[in-house]
Amino acid sequence: VSGAAVTGDAEEQAAEAALRPKRLAEFVGQPKVRDQLSLVLDAARLRGAAPDHVLLSGPPGLGKTTLSMIIAAELAVPIRITSGPAIQHAGDLAAILSSLAEGEVLFLDEIHRMSRPAEEMLYMAMEDFRVDVIVGKGPGATAIPLDLPPFTLVGATTRSGLLPAPLRDRFGFTAHLEFYGPEDLERVVNRSARLLGVRIDPDGAREIAGRSRGTPRIANRLLRRVRDYAEVKADGGVTLEVARAALDVYEVDERGLDRLDRAVLHALLKLFGGGPVGLSTLAVAVGEEAETVEEVAEPFLVREGLLARTPRGRIATSAAWAHFGLSAP
Ligand code: ADP
Repeated sequence: VSGAAVTGDAEEQAAEAALRPKRLAEFVGQPKVRDQLSLVLDAARLRGAAPDHVLLSGPPGLGKTTLSMIIAAELAVPIRITSGPAIQHAGDLAAILSSLAEGEVLFLDEIHRMSRPAEEMLYMAMEDFRVDVIVGKGPGATAIPLDLPPFTLVGATTRSGLLPAPLRDRFGFTAHLEFYGPEDLERVVNRSARLLGVRIDPDGAREIAGRSRGTPRIANRLLRRVRDYAEVKADGGVTLEVARAALDVYEVDERGLDRLDRAVLHALLKLFGGGPVGLSTLAVAVGEEAETVEEVAEPFLVREGLLARTPRGRIATSAAWAHFGLSAP
């Protein structure tokens, strides 16, 4: 998954941090995940012990990082944030693990992209709170066992199926985040508007929510763009007309498809006659990694009924042809 496309630049990250819910009660939607997590946290508090390790899966922007921070806040413990690709060697992981405070939350984003040796070290750390640090090289190398304080690993992945079973099995609690429905996205937009001090009509909020691709991160991003427009071209308030005009300027289509979604559908329709076409061929056609197409674009396109995954490859549905104003052959 290309990080930049998904998480944006530094300015975006600062804006996101300001809008992040801090407690479970502020976290919009995902009622099943919230209820289950709340039980896990209550039980840990009662026992006065670190809770089981937590695995969060789901497409980018649905709240995995936010939930990991909420877990730490609810337990009143510190949090360390890192990611699979940032851990190149087992030694990198050993350094992080051995410096954790008692009860600390370790958030490991894109955990499926960790190197193999690091992954194996993580198994032992998760299960026995112990690592073997290898000192030296070749026949003289020795393993020095090191005890770790109890900690809670929160792993995030775009799809839990990407994880090797031995890793998946070491999580005591697994939650899958789903795309958000229109009402929940409207609540996200209204909450963020309140925090940003933006006046917004119910119709304006609904319009932004409807084009947010089921994703809170996108809802917040669109709200900020609409706010720009409202301040420059109107009196600062967000009405239906202002939201529509602004989103047209930024070329967000009425279904919320983004550049990658449109590129994938466009290639599927124009280059491959609607399919079936294999994932890797489709990815090459849009100049992206297969993993990005599969984990970032496809889940939404499938949910919207625009693309189907079949044993023979990806196919466009009749709704996809209609969306581009074309008739299916
Ligand atoms: P992920 O880690 O899954 O990519 P994040 O946790 O970084 O997603 O969420 C992206 C942004 O979306 C956050 O900054 C936060 O403001 C917003 N967000 C995500 N989930 C929610 C939610 N349930 N309620 C309110 N805002 C949310």
